[in-house]
This record gives sequence, C-alpha cells and structure tokens, in this order.
Amino acid sequence: MNPYDVIILGGGPAGSNAAARLAQFKRQVLLIDKGIGEGFTGSSARVQNFPGFPEGISGPKLMERFRQSVTAAGAEIKEGAIESMDVAANPFTVTSQGGESFATRAVILATGAAFQGHLVPGERELRGAGVFSDAHLEGALVAGGTVVVIGKTQEACKEALLLARSANRVYLIVPSSKLDVPEGLVRQLQDKKIEIIFSASLKQVNGTDKVTSVTVLAAGTEKEIQADGVFSYTHDWQTVSAYLKDRVQMTEKGIVMVDDDMATSVKGIFACGDIICGRPQLPAISAAQGILAALSVEKYLGTLS
Ligand SMILES: Cc1cc2nc3c(=O)[nH]c(=O)nc-3n(C[C@H](O)[C@H](O)[C@H](O)COP(=O)(O)OP(=O)(O)OC[C@H]3O[C@@H](n4cnc5c(N)ncnc54)[C@H](O)[C@@H]3O)c2cc1C
Repeated sequence: MNPYDVIILGGGPAGSNAAARLAQFKRQVLLIDKGIGEGFTGSSARVQNFPGFPEGISGPKLMERFRQSVTAAGAEIKEGAIESMDVAANPFTVTSQGGESFATRAVILATGAAFQGHLVPGERELRGAGVFSDAHLEGALVAGGTVVVIGKTQEACKEALLLARSANRVYLIVPSSKLDVPEGLVRQLQDKKIEIIFSASLKQVNGTDKVTSVTVLAAGTEKEIQADGVFSYTHDWQTVSAYLKDRVQMTEKGIVMVDDDMATSVKGIFACGDIICGRPQLPAISAAQGILAALSVEKYLGTLS
C-alpha cells in the first residue's frame, strides 16, 4: 500500500488545523487521535480568547468545529492511540496501540501536553470557565472580580501582583508557612488588594458552569472564598510524547525542539501545539502553529520526487 503523504498524531487545535490545511492541498492525510475529550482543549469547559468567539465556546464544541473542517477537506481520521514510531528510514512507520501500522512520507507531532498528579474536584471540570493557568494569557477575563492564586514560588507571587492590577481582590493561597521568594517581592505583595493565607491548600473549586468559589483548608479549617477565577501554580505538566522514545530532539520535560518552520531534528518530522511549548499557551496559538506546520510539510513534500 502506498504511504500516506502525512500522518498527523493528535487532533487537538494544532493537529486538526494542520490536517485540514494539508487535505486542502489534496495531500493524502491521516489524522490519528485518541479522542476529543483526551486533549487540553477538548476537555476544557470553556475556551475564551479564541478569535471570533467573543462569548467564548465550550472546548468540545470548538473541537467538533475543527473536526468538521478536517473531514470537509477530505482527510481521513482514525480514533486510537499511537504506541510507537520508526523513523530510521523514509517512509516512516507509525504503529497504533492495537498494533496497526501505517507508512508515511511526513509526520506532524501534535499530541499536546497534560498535567501530572492530582487535580482537586472542580479543577478539571471548570477549566477555562474560571480555572486558568496563566495570568498573562487569561487574567483579563477576571478583571474587576475576585481571584484566588495558589502557590509559593516567584511565578505565583508575580502572577498575583499582575492580577492585582485589574482584579478587585486577590487571595494568595500559600501551601507552606512562608514564601520561597526574595524579600523585595514579599514587600511588593503588601498591597491592600492582596490577602495572603499561609499553610493553606486548595480542596475544591465550586460552581456549575463557571467558578463561583473555592474551598481552602487553612489551619485545619475549611474556608469558602467567593471567587471568579482561580490560577494554580502548583501543578507540574509534561508533553504527551512517551511514544517518541527520544527519536527526535527533546528537552528533559519532553518538549520537542523545532525550528522556525516547525521542523524537528529528523527531516520529514514536524511538530506543533503544546508538544513544542515550554509553558501554557492559547488554543489559538496552537491552531496557528498547526497551519504553519502544514505549510512547511507541503513545501517539504514538494521537494520529494
Ligand atoms: C499546562 C497547560 C495549561 C493550559 N491551560 C489552559 C487554560 O487554562 N485555558 C486555555 O484556554 N488553554 C490552556 N492551555 C493551552 C491549550 O489547552 C492548548 O494550547 C491547546 O489545547 C493545545 O493544543 P494541542 O493541539 O497542542 O493539544 P491538545 O488540545 O491537548 O490535543 C492533543 C490531542 O492529541 C491526542 N493524543 C494524545 N496522545 C495521543 C496518542 N498517543 N495517540 C493519538 N492521539 C493522542 C489527544 O486525544 C488530543 O486530541 C494550557 C496548556 C498547558 C500546556
């Protein structure tokens, strides 16, 4: 059987937009995806800040729209998880968990990133609907409201200060008895809008379709704080890249290294979305990276006989 022109691994905003664009170029495209609900955007209650959706849109609905573009453009979609890749020679071989193998002349890696460890109840369910990861990206969505920041690092403190510029009130929940930061930063936090609660932890995020409060355990007592948004800086996260087994150049955190054309260290393999990013980014940025990767793959395929 002839190899595909390109196989795209992961169908989130990055992979779906890459697949749609390459299928529009009339390339033979296979998109392999574990399932919409397995990705960051597909499992987000709400996606805000996506261009063209001033009210926001639910993560699964946004993903369904991307999927419609993929099928309308003529790409093939297979539901399943990738287990491994053989990139020693072109055509490359991609093998799914069920043992099915596919040959391809190019690959786009777009399997995203995921939080490691425990999330409290409500944290996953209300992601994007008040549960956020980055004040620079999403702080404006809670301007004028009450915000809870969880963490003890410089990053958490700086994000609390940034949020205090637009929010009415900021609670900084510190999961230890002191802050792990320089004295100058501690002084800056002495702002009347900011209340620091030491030796405390987040127990639950409350709300049905958006965050309304958080439950915090402080000094052995549970306390409910009314809130419009919660930003946690206590979670570690990693790219979804175990199947790569270091076959392309990656950092220790599993971040795939790419050049300006989204090309990895292996000719013919490209990457886009959260798998190439060192910190949280927006679905719109991942989608745009998918389009850039598609353009690069199209140019690359044009160089093959
Ligand atoms: C730590 C972190 C926090 C974030 N927080 C927010 C936030 O609060 N709000 C917000 O709007 N954005 C947030 N983002 C950004 C946003 O979610 C992403 O930019 C966007 O979803 C990334 O798109 P993607 O296509 O790269 O990955 P994803 O949307 O995660 O999609 C990856 C796809 O790959 C598939 N997949 C995974 N493994 C396999 C496999 N082995 N085989 C086949 N398919 C597979 C999944 O099923 C999924 O469909 C955050 C990102 C990170 C890294």
